[in-house]
Amino acid sequence: LEAELAQLDRINLVGQMAAGIGHEIRNPMTTVRGYLQMFQRKGEFTNYQGQIDTMIEELDRANSIITEFLSLAKNKAVKMKLGNLNQVVLALFPLLQADAFRRGHQLYAEYGTIPDSEFDEKEIRQLILNLANNAFEAMENSGEVTIRTYMENERIVLAVRDTGTGISQDVLTKLGIPFVTTKEKGTGLGLPVCYRIAERHGAKISVDTGCQGTTFSVSFLLTNA
Ligand code: ADP
Ligand code: MG
Repeated sequence: LEAELAQLDRINLVGQMAAGIGHEIRNPMTTVRGYLQMFQRKGEFTNYQGQIDTMIEELDRANSIITEFLSLAKNKAVKMKLGNLNQVVLALFPLLQADAFRRGHQLYAEYGTIPDSEFDEKEIRQLILNLANNAFEAMENSGEVTIRTYMENERIVLAVRDTGTGISQDVLTKLGIPFVTTKEKGTGLGLPVCYRIAERHGAKISVDTGCQGTTFSVSFLLTNA
């Protein structure tokens, strides 16, 4: 028992260290980003506008890698509360729709009749955001993304479907492995975070993909309902 406790502490320690280092790296990045933005605002270095844009983009990319990595490394307990998944989708919808519109896509939601269940709202929001982002990024132009909730075999299912280019066999076998990405500016951490969140909720993620598009379905056990 003692050995087990020591092991557990060490796991927590790694998570805490990762969080601490992440924080320490982020602070200087925020300072640098702030000065770059100031240069833009004041119209300085106008010959290097493109380079400054790139510097800000790259800082944002590094920042999102840290955010996603931390949500993988963190060992925090899930905060399960009773609620309805439809409410989470409903609350996120305007934000996602604005995002879809900006990228020239359409977003739809289909709310099935589903019972209340226990989940960590912040984590489910992150899960939907990551899946929706991948959906948007998988479509060249004017694609359609549908977020749907429904019951199947006494499980609540949350599905995100896109009309994108599909996932190749090669990538399909590696889904969920950290840092696997086919995107120039990808982090390869979005899906690993989704799998981690699903695991913490006792949910399963399945993928259906083809040349017509891709559907990610997350199915939740109804044990807590
Ligand atoms: P990232 O989006 O940063 O590349 P993810 O972990 O979110 O990392 O996704 C890993 C890879 O899985 C993506 O680079 C992409 O190749 C593939 N992928 C994920 N979702 C989809 C989707 N809806 N359609 C096509 N490919 C996808
Ligand atoms: Mg992604």
